[in-house]
Amino acid sequence: MDKRRIAILGSTGSIGRQTLDVVRQHPDLFEVELLTANTSSETLIAQAIEFDVNSVVICSEDKYREVAEALQPKGVKVFAGIESACELVAASSVDIVVAAMVGFSGLRPTLAAIAAGKTIALANKETLVAAGEIVTETALRCNARILPVDSEHSAIFQCLLAAQGNTVTRLHLTASGGPFRSWEREKIAEAKAEQALRHPNWTMGAKITIDSATMMNKGFELIEAKWLFGLAPDDIHIIVHPESVIHSMVEFEDGAVIAQLGCPDMRLPIQFALSFPRRLSLEGRKLDFASLASMTFFEPDREKFPALELAVGAIKRGGNAPCALNAANEAAVSAYLAGKIGFYDISDIVRKCLDGMDFVARPTLDDIFATHREIFSRAEKMC
Ligand code: MG
Repeated sequence: MDKRRIAILGSTGSIGRQTLDVVRQHPDLFEVELLTANTSSETLIAQAIEFDVNSVVICSEDKYREVAEALQPKGVKVFAGIESACELVAASSVDIVVAAMVGFSGLRPTLAAIAAGKTIALANKETLVAAGEIVTETALRCNARILPVDSEHSAIFQCLLAAQGNTVTRLHLTASGGPFRSWEREKIAEAKAEQALRHPNWTMGAKITIDSATMMNKGFELIEAKWLFGLAPDDIHIIVHPESVIHSMVEFEDGAVIAQLGCPDMRLPIQFALSFPRRLSLEGRKLDFASLASMTFFEPDREKFPALELAVGAIKRGGNAPCALNAANEAAVSAYLAGKIGFYDISDIVRKCLDGMDFVARPTLDDIFATHREIFSRAEKMC
C-alpha cells in the first residue's frame, strides 16, 4: 500500500484523536497533511507538532494568534476560519479526508472535499442527515468515494463485501439502547445530562452520547444507511442489542444474514476506512466467544424513545425535513447539555419544529442552509 496522506476535519474530538491513534500505530502507511479544530487550540498545537503536519486550520478566529505563534516557527502553515478548511481539503497533497466534525458545521468542508474528488472517511453523520441527496449526488458526479466510519455502517459495508452483486433485502442496524434502555419512562424524564453521558459500551463525544440516550442517533443512522446503501427506510430494521458485539447485519433474498462482530472500539472502523481494502493489525482486546455469556436482542421501545419515530417520519417525508430534524435536535441537545431543558423536551422541541417547518420537496444547498438557520434559531427560542 502506498503511503496515504490524510486530512482530519475535527482532529481534537473523539474520532479525530482516535484517527491519530491509528496513524501512530502505522507511521509507515499514513502521513498527516492537515488538521482542523474548532476551538481546542492547545490540543491542535500538540497534535501538529507530534505528527509534523503541513498545515492546520483553527476555525475560531480569536485563537489564531496563539496557534500561529506556537506553530509557525516550526514551519507549520496556520490558517483561521472554516473557509480555509474548505480550500485546504481540496489540495492535491491530500488523499483521504476524515470528516469528524460534530454536527451541521461539517457539511461545507465535507462537500468541498467531495467536490474535489477526495476519498471521504465519513464520521460526521449529520452531513448525510441534513443533505444526504446533495452529498451522495455530488460524490457520484465528482467520483469521490465515501467510506463509512460510523461503526454500524462500517459493519454493513464490510458485510456487503460478501454480496457479490446479489440483492440485499434488509439491513439490521444494531443499537446498544443507550444508558436508559432499562429505565422507566418517569425516571428517564428526570434524567440529567451527566447520567445521559454515561454510555454503557462506547466512549464518544458529548453530542453523540446524548443522541444515543434519546436514540435520535439510531434514527440518524437509519437515514445515513439509506443514503450510503440505497435501501428504503422500511427495509432498514433497528434492533436493540445491548452487548454491542454484532455491529450490524445484512440480509439477502434467500434469508442468509451476514454480520460483522468485534469488541466495541472505534479505531477498527476508522482504520478500515483509511486502509481499505487492506486490513491492518490493530492492538487491543479481541472477541473471546467462550466468555460471551449471551447475546440478546429486543425491538426498540418507541414510546420511551420518541426520537426514533421522528427520524423515520422525517426521512419518509424527505426534502428538507431531515435537515430540520437535525437542526432542531442540535439546538435542543446543546440546551439539554447546558441544563436548560429536560430530557423529553429534546424530542418535543424537534416534533414542534418539524410540524411548523416550511417544507421544500427538492431543496437546493441554499435551501438546506436556510432551513438549518431558521429551524436552529426557532428551536433555540423554545429552549
Ligand atoms: Mg454508530
